[in-house]
Amino acid sequence: MIYPELPHDVNSPTHPVSAMDFMPVPLLRELQLHRLQSTVKYAYERVPLFRKRCDEQGVKPEHIKTLADIKLLPFMKKTDLRDEYPMGLRGASMDEVVRFHCSSGTTGKPICIPNTASDIEVWKNGVMRCLAMYGIRAGDVLQVSYGYGLFTGGLGLHYGGEGLGCAVLPISGGNTERQVMLMRDLGVTAIACTPSYFLRIIDEAKRQGVDFRKDTNLKHGIFGAEPWTNEMRQNIERETGIIAHDIYGLTEISGPGVAGGCQHSDGLHIWEDHFYPEIIDPDTLEPLPDGEVGELVFTTISRCGTPMIRYRTRDLTRLYTETCKCGRTMRVMDRISARSDDMLIIHGVNVFPGQIEACLLRVPEVAPHYQIVLSSTDTLDLFEIKVEVTPEAFSDNIRHLEDLRKRVLDNVKSIIGLTPKIILVGPGTLPRSEGKIRRVIDNRRK
Ligand code: ADP
Ligand code: ZN
Repeated sequence: MIYPELPHDVNSPTHPVSAMDFMPVPLLRELQLHRLQSTVKYAYERVPLFRKRCDEQGVKPEHIKTLADIKLLPFMKKTDLRDEYPMGLRGASMDEVVRFHCSSGTTGKPICIPNTASDIEVWKNGVMRCLAMYGIRAGDVLQVSYGYGLFTGGLGLHYGGEGLGCAVLPISGGNTERQVMLMRDLGVTAIACTPSYFLRIIDEAKRQGVDFRKDTNLKHGIFGAEPWTNEMRQNIERETGIIAHDIYGLTEISGPGVAGGCQHSDGLHIWEDHFYPEIIDPDTLEPLPDGEVGELVFTTISRCGTPMIRYRTRDLTRLYTETCKCGRTMRVMDRISARSDDMLIIHGVNVFPGQIEACLLRVPEVAPHYQIVLSSTDTLDLFEIKVEVTPEAFSDNIRHLEDLRKRVLDNVKSIIGLTPKIILVGPGTLPRSEGKIRRVIDNRRK
């Protein structure tokens, strides 16, 4: 790929950071095929489990002649990473490994991912391209309030921000009082954290009497690492006047910056020159056509430390059929509002927490803080939703609150078809998070 003449506007095909985003599709497909073929060959030679599975399925690296041939290859799952813990899926030799990351273990025992120096570059490049797409530039002050350490959020945004020339504030999560103080004092223009932690920061700003619009320079929020709905995005933007951008990624595939939200659509561009996406039916494992919702599967086509081939993310989404108005050729996926592990079966009905979040936040008097509590008696599942009322709407007027409770219930009922017990609670009552939040408490007998 020959880069066009540089530099000027970062958010255009003429800037080196964003140039790949606008690559002509035939060239992109050619590059993907070339990288897929070399990754498969590399993994076949170096990762015993992958070679064994390929041999069992009678597939050899030379059988991959087109991108569609990817469907011949075996899948990888999180359980493979656990079974091969700590480093059974490592492709690079130890003298090439420069860093380990572990997934945060939201859904079980952590897994370990060795990264080489070139993996870190690919990852950083993905984050830089997201930030550039959001309109962030050198001169912006980026507060990184994701956790630093084994979790990829902090270091991912850190390297990406520095790479783009931002002034990075590596504050990590926690100590929320200081987060608000430094945000004001340093003129922070962009913050990166989980959406749920930003809600906590909003609370703290209110407590300190800080108005985001008047007292801070904050313009961008870079939110990810957990599912959040469009309704949550609108709520945050209304409350603070910032633009809430979506950033997606996972430790197994690199970290944040695998895909990022674009202002021209509701979805996220996937940096598919590095991360090749497929959508499959999670039951039949057959690839689904663009437009259909299924499980997102990634093949890393330029990573060496831990090459991941057809990795089942368990995240549910669809790929858009139409191209994006911004001109980027990289495919767009819907925001991830659920992972398949999060699905709740309540009274025989499949419910995702995101559906409940969307229903709740459509009621203006409801604050973006809620908890779903499930418990069981001998015969019955009990389904409760605790939800905070905004300070403005909170009152002693029982009739007023009862009317609000009924409206919340009607909203939930009309969408999910179940009748939970709605419990309205006062502002600041429910737990807040400093990283990934847990909003479902499932005490049912398994
Ligand atoms: P863990 O699986 O332990 O949470 P990670 O910290 O690597 O591991 O988190 C990756 C997961 O976080 C993704 O698979 C996805 O479920 C979720 N995630 C990351 N970014 C987003 C996002 N922008 N929107 C929704 N979910 C996200
Ligand atoms: Zn776009």
